[in-house]
Amino acid sequence: MRKVLVLEDESSIRSFIVINLERAGYEVIEAETGEEALEKLAANPDTRAALLDIMLPGIDGIEVCRRIRLSDPHIGIIMLSARSQEMDKVTGLMTGADDYITKPFSPAELTARVDALLRRMGDAPATGAQEPGGELSQPPFRLNLTNRTLEKNGQRVRLTQVEYAIVKLFMENRGKALSREEILDTVWGHGYFGEPKIVDVNVRRLRIKLEDDAQEPKHILTVWGFGYKWNVE
Ligand code: CA
Repeated sequence: MRKVLVLEDESSIRSFIVINLERAGYEVIEAETGEEALEKLAANPDTRAALLDIMLPGIDGIEVCRRIRLSDPHIGIIMLSARSQEMDKVTGLMTGADDYITKPFSPAELTARVDALLRRMGDAPATGAQEPGGELSQPPFRLNLTNRTLEKNGQRVRLTQVEYAIVKLFMENRGKALSREEILDTVWGHGYFGEPKIVDVNVRRLRIKLEDDAQEPKHILTVWGFGYKWNVE
């Protein structure tokens, strides 16, 4: 069964999330503090995704996200934020979260987000077809489709699953201007509840990882008022 960790200090919200995820077929591990979440993740390495509340006693959700990413680039991370925490959302995404949900949210939105996250991560349904393997090579980059890894000049670049999916889309559409909506639809899936801004935050993070100078990008170019274009010599 797919295992998901829920970190939330307010017990009523935590129960709401746990009940709905269990109803949707997930095995749920609960944590009330950041410290407890990190311990439980270490004890459950097969956990596929973590939902992290931001405002917590002790270490906050953003710090928990940062610490998880130090050891695990592959687990899916969704931040849970209140409407007033707009900046925290961006900080959380820059720290390595894949998505965020604004409280309050409905059970349908919650499970749709978690399902979509796991789908993006390549958790094919039992009957699903395997993605074709091989690689996409555009010097200095080489994307390995079997291992879902990226190298720049032969050096591994550590990507989250969402970043990997964006780079793959870029490399498959070299030189073509892609709209934010097109990137959102392809990477996050149709019916995604979030905002196109999440694309910009992920691109900012990717530029820091891929560009020689993130302020003067040579590979991920901005197409003003539209989206982005992948440009490789
Ligand atoms: Ca809280």
